[in-house]
Amino acid sequence: MIYDHILIRYGELGLKGKNMKQFLIQLQRNIKSALWAFPDTKVRRTQGRIFVELHGEDADAILTELEKIYGIHSMSLAIKVENDLDTIKQGALTALKENEDAQTFKVSVRRANKGFPIGSQEMNPLIGAHILQNIDGLNVDVHQPDVEVRIEIREHATYITSKNIYGAGGLPVGTAGKSLLLLSGGIDSPVAGHLMMKRGIQLEMIHFHSPPFTSERAKQKVLELTEVLTSYGGPIKVHLVPFTALQQEIFKSIPEKFAMTVMRRVMLTISEKVCEQVGILSVTTGESLGQVASQTLASMNVINEVTNIPVLRPLVALDKADIIEHSQKIGTYDISILPYEDCCTVFVPKSPATNPKRETVQKYESRVDFTELIAEAISEIETVRIEQRKALADDFDELL
Ligand code: ATP
Ligand code: MG
Repeated sequence: MIYDHILIRYGELGLKGKNMKQFLIQLQRNIKSALWAFPDTKVRRTQGRIFVELHGEDADAILTELEKIYGIHSMSLAIKVENDLDTIKQGALTALKENEDAQTFKVSVRRANKGFPIGSQEMNPLIGAHILQNIDGLNVDVHQPDVEVRIEIREHATYITSKNIYGAGGLPVGTAGKSLLLLSGGIDSPVAGHLMMKRGIQLEMIHFHSPPFTSERAKQKVLELTEVLTSYGGPIKVHLVPFTALQQEIFKSIPEKFAMTVMRRVMLTISEKVCEQVGILSVTTGESLGQVASQTLASMNVINEVTNIPVLRPLVALDKADIIEHSQKIGTYDISILPYEDCCTVFVPKSPATNPKRETVQKYESRVDFTELIAEAISEIETVRIEQRKALADDFDELL
């Protein structure tokens, strides 16, 4: 391995001034946190780029972690050399030799350091000629080269790369505020959370459980799903709401057909109160239009009316097959399909109304006073902080 750095490029479109600075500080912090298992690495921010100094750590394993980090547009393994023509020539040759099957190449020099005496237009042919002289059978192709040797001449050093790896895109987690994800243990809600993270949202989770009807293992499943998501954006808090008393009351007092709708309304009411308590401005659910009886537009209307807080539903227009594929890709699928019951499957009514009328639901609900049970459930919430894959990510303390 000749490379000693990873050069990280970020998408900067539309970002300026203060936003840009915040974006960069957050991205650097997220990268540091993601590399907790590689203690010798250093993450540095310079103008226009972030660099990871490898100091002998495993580059491939590090790239695997970096591929999950939102806000990274692309990255490359890089050789760092002095700002000196002969040294740069030598470095470019070494980087190109890493690509054994290449038949064509192109050199792209970028001179960020205007103090370097040779301009980029002059540098390109100088470096190209040096490579042609030293490797047989290689040709230049400026349009579709097999390898592009990129040379960045910066203030204190020059970085040479020959491979480009696409990053995850999106915005760094933590730059778009927080959302409270209703996490159920099923396939959909973890995917919904992951999609919001891509837009820079930092998550907290809320999970409703009904012991002893739901087991300790079912709760564990939700914590494990959360742990998988931490590798995309740092430690996550999980609020576990004891829901048994409320569910029993609902299924005792509300006609079975409308119990599901009322249950969702109560979940959303509690979620809104938790948002207020912890200063979060939105909730996210894994609902997708038409998937099950409770996810019709009529249902969404009646459920939504209990709150003014934005309810984000990133899966609303996705097909189930696409959601499943996404969950396999992010590593939550195998946990989601474990057969532990959740509170909705235990108490699920045989035929919930697909077209619940607001007036009907309000009528039944007005006969029961949930206020005290709701207050009790909120006061008994257990909050757990899940670390990034059990790492001690000190950098994140200030964020939570
Ligand atoms: P999922 O696969 O996420 O469980 P689903 O397709 O099974 O979704 P529902 O069971 O109708 O759909 O739930 C819709 C959404 O309500 C879930 O995606 C989740 O956001 C929320 N939800 C359901 N049950 C719970 C729960 N026990 N705790 C927290 N949120 C829940
Ligand atoms: Mg479910």
